[in-house]
Amino acid sequence: MLAPGPFPGGPSGSPPAAPPAAHRTGWIEVVCGSMFSGKTEELLRRMKRARLARQGNVLFKPRVDNRYDEVKVVSHEGLNAESIPVASAKELLSRVPPAVVVVGIDEVQFFDDGIVDAVEALASRGVRVIAAGLDQDWRGRPFGPIPALMSVAEYVTKLHAVCARCGGAATRSQRLVAAEGQLFVGGSAEYEARCRACFVPSPIAAP
Ligand code: ADP
Ligand code: MG
Ligand code: ZN
Repeated sequence: MLAPGPFPGGPSGSPPAAPPAAHRTGWIEVVCGSMFSGKTEELLRRMKRARLARQGNVLFKPRVDNRYDEVKVVSHEGLNAESIPVASAKELLSRVPPAVVVVGIDEVQFFDDGIVDAVEALASRGVRVIAAGLDQDWRGRPFGPIPALMSVAEYVTKLHAVCARCGGAATRSQRLVAAEGQLFVGGSAEYEARCRACFVPSPIAAP
């Protein structure tokens, strides 16, 4: 059994489910890791708790990610939830209704750098922001705005998948097909989770 954490409602060290009443401020949670590490499942779990607590909430995803569905956020296991696809951080900010206190964002690595200021602005006006995304790209490099988001976040959760080669803790997403660029969206036919030892850095040179 897990030791009791500092906050109710989650495993040890996980963020609070609701702001303490005397201290109603916002904050930023980052959920990161490789592909198949359960980021979307964890994001949907936290959003569901917000819904159950009747906290006004909204879920966004970048318009680029249409892997499974144009509107829904879908996990590799098929868990899903309605979301609003947006083309930019600016559009995201403009589409947060005033009554919303919890904002979820999936695949946050695909946003422009403006996402950092956007989530900071939301947190500063009292919103709990939960941002899930890949921390490394297919070459094992830090992905887009994620490093900056991790720096400004109050809570960072790094998840691991099971390495498809050795069963160890996977931190990297091995691209299995020849394609260049960070933006190649795929599923289990195109990527597999690998640990540091089993990951093979791409022979394709950096642009
Ligand atoms: P992410 O958003 O991090 O890509 P998801 O939340 O969509 O991950 O999917 C997690 C699910 O992926 C797991 O519950 C499991 O069913 C499935 N899965 C497939 N391959 C793996 C793997 N190598 N390690 C762990 N989970 C895997
Ligand atoms: Mg996901
Ligand atoms: Zn391995």
